[in-house]
Amino acid sequence: EPVNMTTVLKNVVDILSLKAENRQMELILNCEASDCIISGDQDQMTQVFQNLIDNAIKYSKVGTSVEINCRYIEQLPHKSAPGVQVAVCDHGDGIDEEHLPRLTERFYRIDKARSRTMGGTGLGLAIVKHIIMRHRGRIQIESKAGEGSCFTVLLPLKA
Ligand code: ATP
Ligand code: MG
Repeated sequence: EPVNMTTVLKNVVDILSLKAENRQMELILNCEASDCIISGDQDQMTQVFQNLIDNAIKYSKVGTSVEINCRYIEQLPHKSAPGVQVAVCDHGDGIDEEHLPRLTERFYRIDKARSRTMGGTGLGLAIVKHIIMRHRGRIQIESKAGEGSCFTVLLPLKA
């Protein structure tokens, strides 16, 4: 099924706007004018970005912003095909490099005590990774402790 990524991201921003407001946070969505259409499952794509933006809100300080940038790219890094790149960047606590390789494992959480107070199961990123792989995509995580994190999803365009 063709999935318009701009539509998905607008929908997720709507879903999470109240949660962001409660933390005095702004969700800034930037989508390129051109249509970024992939082939896949709209509900699963919604789940991916709901998990990523939920994390960006949860693990950031009150009053900061989350930027979501969506753009067309001519050539994916993992596949000789054009694609869509969606980056979710926050100005949160950041993640120490030592944790990055295991972050998408099921139930992996950095701060067990903090996680208990925040709820959740530690499955969010494992689900994200699974769905992205099923759509022949990739996820890249860049982060600096104390500065923030960017989760970048790369997906092939609809043929
Ligand atoms: P759930 O998603 O099931 O509610 P969770 O958020 O703890 O629980 P994941 O989404 O899989 O689980 O994230 C795993 C861990 O990675 C989190 O517990 C948190 O420590 C860390 N993490 C994820 N996203 C960020 C982020 N944007 N900034 C800082 N740390 C993050
Ligand atoms: Mg999560």
